[in-house]
Amino acid sequence: MIKRKTTVEENNILKEIRRNATREKEVVQALKKEDGLTWEEDGVVYIEGRVYVLNNKKILEEILKKNHESVDIGHPGQHRMLELPKRTYWWPGLKEDVKKYVQGCFKCQQNKVQHQRKAGELHPLDIPQGPWQEISIDIIEPLPKSNGMDAIMVIVD
Ligand SMILES: [Zn+2]
Repeated sequence: MIKRKTTVEENNILKEIRRNATREKEVVQALKKEDGLTWEEDGVVYIEGRVYVLNNKKILEEILKKNHESVDIGHPGQHRMLELPKRTYWWPGLKEDVKKYVQGCFKCQQNKVQHQRKAGELHPLDIPQGPWQEISIDIIEPLPKSNGMDAIMVIVD
């Protein structure tokens, strides 16, 4: 068995895990196998040395937050972020949850927009002599979907 040093934050998470004895079927079965890969210690299940986190929104949220928004971590992308909780924790859907968390992070989405390529330069039209001599069409996209639409077409006469 691997003994690990735990931080205060981890201890709080472990406390929360101990409080809830619900376990997914796969985990109960893995425990029964007694193959040394899954074991229980002090009310916490370890799977290949990683702490099994039951499906508890509050704990998952706390772990994800810590592995994404801490000052020393600074909003990693989903692939880089996944490496962090993966070392210590395991739960079904960990990868999906990390992806969703990053996609749902307001700050990350803001940065993404800023890093996108600047729009091309504008080419102003000549001053027309009369109506319908110069017409411009501009399509602005992609925008967040609204009623299934994600673009605006601007026509200037
Ligand atoms: Zn973020």
